[in-house]
Amino acid sequence: MSISTNQTVGDNNAPDPALNRDLRTLVTFVGVYCKHKHRDLERSSVNIKGFDLAALSKRPPELCSDCAKLLTHAFVKRANCPLKPKPACKHCEEHCYHRTYRAQIQQVMRYSGRRLVLSGRLDYLYHLISK
Ligand code: SF4
Ligand SMILES: [Zn+2]
Repeated sequence: MSISTNQTVGDNNAPDPALNRDLRTLVTFVGVYCKHKHRDLERSSVNIKGFDLAALSKRPPELCSDCAKLLTHAFVKRANCPLKPKPACKHCEEHCYHRTYRAQIQQVMRYSGRRLVLSGRLDYLYHLISK
């Protein structure tokens, strides 16, 4: 099923399965990280202008404000990636993330990747390896 991301920039309304898959992965990984690492912080549902999170994820996560900012940054960067073909972000030489967010997303991917694999979500392990 293709999912409309309702992008704000560079949107030609064409479904982009790779983009949708990457956005969905970001939602899942940031959601897992915030749920376990920031359980004591105030968390709320997230709105990212130009994106339909409800369409991307059956249960969009509640995030603290820092994780919401990180997810927003990652969404905008991923949706506007200028590279074709796009490499995995972790192997990208032109890494477009702000330095602070780059360090944060690397931490999130490591932590949540381990948790998802330990909980039997080997599909995410495959995604991490293949990316
Ligand atoms: S880090 Fe590189 S591959 Fe990832 S979105 Fe930015 S430019 Fe594209
Ligand atoms: Zn958080």
